[in-house]
Amino acid sequence: MKRIVVYPEPILREKCLAVTSWEKNEEETKKELLQALEKSKIGIGLAAPQIGEKERIFVIKGVHPFHHGRVLVNPEIVDNFDEEKVYPLMEDEEGNREEFLEGCLSFPDIYGPVKRWLRIKARWYEPRQGELVETEAVLEGLGAIVFQHELDHLEGILFIDHLKEEGRLPVVFDKEGKKRTLSWKEFEAKVSSF
Ligand SMILES: [Zn+2]
Repeated sequence: MKRIVVYPEPILREKCLAVTSWEKNEEETKKELLQALEKSKIGIGLAAPQIGEKERIFVIKGVHPFHHGRVLVNPEIVDNFDEEKVYPLMEDEEGNREEFLEGCLSFPDIYGPVKRWLRIKARWYEPRQGELVETEAVLEGLGAIVFQHELDHLEGILFIDHLKEEGRLPVVFDKEGKKRTLSWKEFEAKVSSF
């Protein structure tokens, strides 16, 4: 099984190539992605460059409408319903609303707030008996967020790029689960230990 590539390995910065036909190699990539995501336990999405493949393929699992793990090929956003990107909110155990923090399997234990559309119409292809079948769906909430995160990976864009653009900082959690922001210098020290 392939290991998950961690930052700053160069493949994470490469633009992936469109899949033109579903062959043995693509079927293998799909299996490896689903296996690696399954093994990670905490991940809900994984893109081909994260296992060292430069193809426009990612998998999403455990999120509506991708519950049991689905593979998305040549994905794109076809509509954002003219809505603005926002920092998604989530409720903590006491019911307080706070910013949702994105994570990435290529940045173990590092999180951050990223502006996303909360509703998109997405289009992609799914392999069925070796054929690529076009699929379209309106994605909301976490489904929309993870789709945008994985789509970024296919362009070589990482969630820390959005933090930098928006002047936000990465976040880690201590053993008690308390949130702490990292300076970019602390971030560099942490990623050098990956
Ligand atoms: Zn990621």
